[in-house]
Amino acid sequence: MGKVYIYKCVNYEEKNVNKAMKELLSSFSVLKKIKPGTKVVIKANLVSAMSPEKSATVHPELLKYLTKFLQDKGCIVTIGDSPGGIYTKAHLSHVYNITKMDETGALLNEDFSVKKAVFNDAQVLKTFDYTGYLDNADMIINFCKLKSHAMMKMSCAVKNLFGTIPGTTKPEYHYRFPNHVDFANMLIDLNEYFKPVINIVDAIVGMDGNGPTMGNPKQIGCVLASENPYELDYICAKIIGLKEDDVETIKQSIIRKLCNPDKIDLNDNLDKYLIKDFEVKKGRNSIAFRENDKGLISKIIAFGGNKIFTNKPHCISKKCIGCAKCANICPAHAIKMENKKPHIDRSKCIKCYCCQEFCPVGAMRVKTSLLVTFLNKKHK
Ligand code: SF4
Ligand code: SF4
Repeated sequence: MGKVYIYKCVNYEEKNVNKAMKELLSSFSVLKKIKPGTKVVIKANLVSAMSPEKSATVHPELLKYLTKFLQDKGCIVTIGDSPGGIYTKAHLSHVYNITKMDETGALLNEDFSVKKAVFNDAQVLKTFDYTGYLDNADMIINFCKLKSHAMMKMSCAVKNLFGTIPGTTKPEYHYRFPNHVDFANMLIDLNEYFKPVINIVDAIVGMDGNGPTMGNPKQIGCVLASENPYELDYICAKIIGLKEDDVETIKQSIIRKLCNPDKIDLNDNLDKYLIKDFEVKKGRNSIAFRENDKGLISKIIAFGGNKIFTNKPHCISKKCIGCAKCANICPAHAIKMENKKPHIDRSKCIKCYCCQEFCPVGAMRVKTSLLVTFLNKKHK
């Protein structure tokens, strides 16, 4: 039976964080047995150089508690991640500084080597490059943030391990796995390869709306953890009002028998934690429809129905500062700068939403399709 633990924590005040984290960590026998000298790497979600108040990254107060907890047991603790952009010491120092990782008391990763993996048991990701510092770990802890995500609907434990792929090569993966199902399986393969011993979620204040970087901080009020990232994500999806069919990584993990919803054993009543008004952009990815759906909808789309069925990236001109980051990051080369504004070639766009994720001012948004807008209104 898969155990998932959840504890209330209403804000990031030290006393509240300490209480919740103490309860959470005491649930894991693997941490009780940990030996002095163990090298622990915490793969935290540090998606971008953004202050903790923006709620895009794991809050330093939680990492501070975890670091001290492990150091008191004699562990050597390192925090690391590979956000989008160049994977260099200079860039990461900036990210660590803005996200306040230097307040956690942990070592901050300074090994920017890239290693090659061959993973024969993978479903789709048989070979890949990854951030080499993970090899220095006797034990990996996955520490994520609960957020909405334009492409995958939810960013939580399973999605967080995409940060094991070196920054500038990440957009290529959207091209290598343009289909939602394969992209989800690629993320699952990463989790199966690195196998973090524990997965922890910062869901005290998450992010809804235009996540994973430009959404709104959203009070959720809890921390969660599990040895099983898929069952942890399943519970987190329920908290924010998503069903297993909404989140492809959850759907695929159930198919692969890595998640068994009927056997999840939660330590508390989930009803106390459910959020009624968490905003996630609903709508389907056109590629997923084209490749996986053989029904009527696919046929309609084949006749040009994409516009009404699928969401798409859209630039809000008034906000755009013409930095061209979206054009540079776009893996499909679908964006050209014209008169200092991005112009998107819809026929090339693969709807990976990298442009939205990396726009520094939130000018690139996910535009909800006409049909989805209509259906959402109808169901309100
Ligand atoms: S335009 Fe945006 S969503 Fe479309 S392929 Fe490029 S980065 Fe991805
Ligand atoms: S990244 Fe954002 S601000 Fe920069 S050009 Fe693109 S839309 Fe405009």
